[in-house]
Amino acid sequence: MKPQMLFLLILPALVGCDQTPTGRTQLTLVPDYIMTDIGRQTFAQMRQSQRVVTDTGVNRRVRCVAREITKAAARLYPEAKMPETWEVAIFQNPTPNAFALPGGHIGVHSGMLRVADNPAQLAAVIGHEVGHLLANHGNERLTQQLGIKSVLLLVGLFGDINNAQILQAIGVGARLGITLPFSRAHEQEADLMGLQMMAAAGFPPSQSVELWRNMARSGGAQPIEFLSTHPAHETRIQNLRSHMTQALDRFHHAQPAACPP
Ligand SMILES: [Zn+2]
Repeated sequence: MKPQMLFLLILPALVGCDQTPTGRTQLTLVPDYIMTDIGRQTFAQMRQSQRVVTDTGVNRRVRCVAREITKAAARLYPEAKMPETWEVAIFQNPTPNAFALPGGHIGVHSGMLRVADNPAQLAAVIGHEVGHLLANHGNERLTQQLGIKSVLLLVGLFGDINNAQILQAIGVGARLGITLPFSRAHEQEADLMGLQMMAAAGFPPSQSVELWRNMARSGGAQPIEFLSTHPAHETRIQNLRSHMTQALDRFHHAQPAACPP
C-alpha cells in the first residue's frame, strides 16, 4: 500500500469522525464554511426564484414556532454548532415540505401549513428539520456522495485548489444533495431530536404523531426529502411513540409555548 493510501484511510479518523447530538458516530469532511456558504447561496436562490408568502398572520405564526424551537434547541444541544441567527421564509408551494439549510435558513412550503394544522404540529416539522441541521446530516450525506477521497482532494489537502474552485466543485454535489432524500437513520434521528425540541419548547409532543397521521391522510404526498427512502408513516409513529414518555416528562416541565393558532 502506498503511504498516500494509508494516509487516506486514517485521515478521516483524525479530522472527520464526529458524534451527532444523539451520540451516533458520523463522518463529516466538508468544511463548515463551505456548508454555510452552500446553505446561504441555495436559500438566496430559492427566495429569488420562488414566490414567498407575505401574509403577516402566516409569517407571525411560522416565525413564532421557529423561534421557540431554535431557542429550545440551543438549550437542549449546547454542544451542537448553532447558527448565530435564523432566517425563516414561507414559500408559495403546494407540496407539503420544509427544510433547514446550513447557516440557519428555515424554509416552509405553504402546502405544509395545510397538513400541520396547529402550532404544535408545525413545531414537529420545524423541530425535525432543525434536527437534520444540528446533527450535520447534510455534511454527512455530501461526504458520502462525493466520496472521502474526492472531498479530501477538493479541500486541498493534496493540491493547490483555491476556495472558489472548491465551492464550485462541492456546490454541484450539494445541489444534488439537497434534492436527494436523507437516509432512514437520518430521518429517525431528526424525528427524535425534533420530538425532544418540541417538548422542551412547550408544545405537546403527542402532536408529532398527529402530524404523521395527517401526512398519511393528505394522500401520500410526501415531503420531497422523504421521496424514496422515507420510513413508512407507521414506522415513524412507532419510533416517536417509543420515546414519548421522556418527551412528555420534558413537556410537563416546560413553559407552555404561546404561538398564535
Ligand atoms: Zn427529514
